[in-house]
Amino acid sequence: MSTIRTMLGKGLCGVLLACSLSARAADADRPRVIVVGGGLAGLVTAYELQERGIPSLVLEAGTAWGGRVATVEYGKGLRAEYGLHEIWDKNPLMDYVKKFSIPLSEPEQPYSSVYMDGKLFPYVQDTAAAFHASLFTPEERAGYDRWLKECEALYDETRAGALTPRLAELQKISFAKWVESFRLSPRVTEFIRLGLECEVAADWDGISAVYGIMQEDIFLHGTQQCRHARDGNGTIIDAFVKAIRGPKVLGALVTRVVRARGADGKTRVVVHYKENGVMRSAEAEKVVLAVPYHMLHAIQMEPSLTDEQWRAVDGLSAGTYTVVHFILDVAANKKLLVDGKIPFPVLTRGPLGVIYGFLEKPEPGQTEEAFTLLVHGDYSRSYLEPRDKIRGRLLAELDKIWPGFSSFARETHFYGHHPAATPGWPVGRSPLDELHASLRAENVGLYLAGDYLYSSHSDGAVRSGREAAVKVAAVLAKAPR
Ligand SMILES: Cc1cc2nc3c(=O)[nH]c(=O)nc-3n(C[C@H](O)[C@H](O)[C@H](O)COP(=O)(O)OP(=O)(O)OC[C@H]3O[C@@H](n4cnc5c(N)ncnc54)[C@H](O)[C@@H]3O)c2cc1C
Repeated sequence: MSTIRTMLGKGLCGVLLACSLSARAADADRPRVIVVGGGLAGLVTAYELQERGIPSLVLEAGTAWGGRVATVEYGKGLRAEYGLHEIWDKNPLMDYVKKFSIPLSEPEQPYSSVYMDGKLFPYVQDTAAAFHASLFTPEERAGYDRWLKECEALYDETRAGALTPRLAELQKISFAKWVESFRLSPRVTEFIRLGLECEVAADWDGISAVYGIMQEDIFLHGTQQCRHARDGNGTIIDAFVKAIRGPKVLGALVTRVVRARGADGKTRVVVHYKENGVMRSAEAEKVVLAVPYHMLHAIQMEPSLTDEQWRAVDGLSAGTYTVVHFILDVAANKKLLVDGKIPFPVLTRGPLGVIYGFLEKPEPGQTEEAFTLLVHGDYSRSYLEPRDKIRGRLLAELDKIWPGFSSFARETHFYGHHPAATPGWPVGRSPLDELHASLRAENVGLYLAGDYLYSSHSDGAVRSGREAAVKVAAVLAKAPR
């Protein structure tokens, strides 16, 4: 009997031990942080929290991960991007691309072909210098170099992350005014404008000189090269989703975020979200809102962002993009290639925006290819018109550059982004100003992440996600649950 009791006791102890161990394991897995938004910023936040041993729950409103990183497959091996296209060398996203061993395309040069004065200037030369020689007279080239040197000096000043007296003055004028002050030739001025407006997706009159200078980084100090994921940028998102082991919910639209700080100084967060028509809630210690800046307004925050934070958000200007894919007969390439080389992308100022065309030649036996336009700024706003009208107008514009182009177009697909698809900093603002710095501060257990924290591109999204994770981890390390 005693033996049985002893055995029973041992068994019970074992069961209890196992129960308490599994309870502890379950407790250890319980999300301490809720990440709202499953775009790059949100996924980087969740991944970096995991790296620091902090479990999180990711809630994404859409039916797919990745937000503005979006690849579409058209079958028969045809695929194209309708969100992020290019990843530049210094983009911190490259760290993850390497970590996840994502195969990349061959590097591309930062300069693109341009369409100016009704003429295509293809960049198919071996060097940027040879391309510039095809565009500029020696005097024009000297003017461009003078501007570039000044731009480099000012860009280096921005790297300290705060406004210097010189930058504070430049924040008061537009990028257009600043470039015009160099009195460059109309062609050089136009060349600079073409390179800038497609990046900021807005008119150069509407953005501050400091923000514009920050956007020039790819052309400075010997230029950067850019790449994209060989099998589509969506594969980067897939790799993040696979690497993040914690719970992740698609179709979870967050509508309300309530926080409070207890007497012990710790914060509690309740996040309300609608999933399949049912309102649910989840609790944690911290929340990271990784949604685009214009979507912050759609989430009730109790307490709200501070007045300063709202002014920082509401003072941003909107950059606009629409992506158009034409499915083209590859026979078009006999018109499009220049000396057998791909001239894309081509920068234009007008309804076509950036003609990304295609960046790789078709495989043998391939009969169709995806041909991409990245329409930006005011021309993108015209996309409120019926798509069939716009299609006709775009094809007519393409026919002007490559007569007969339209006869090769088999299908057209439009991807309209929100009218504030990218953030911008108007005259009087820049990512370096104090108002903007307020967005990087904690607000009762709530942290913001997203491209707009630092820039208008994926580098800002990645940086903000990483920094949010580092800040949250530091606070949670001091207050174990
Ligand atoms: C057409 C286009 C081309 C671009 N090209 C480039 C490029 O070549 N290089 C580059 O570096 N950058 C480029 N960008 C910018 C880049 O794509 C973005 O900066 C980056 O992807 C933003 O990531 P994010 O996580 O901050 O935001 P997002 O990707 O927008 O992710 C935010 C997520 O939050 C979700 N969400 C919003 N509200 C809620 C809610 N209430 N509840 C739950 N979830 C919510 C959204 O559905 C979304 O998935 C481009 C952008 C566009 C639109």
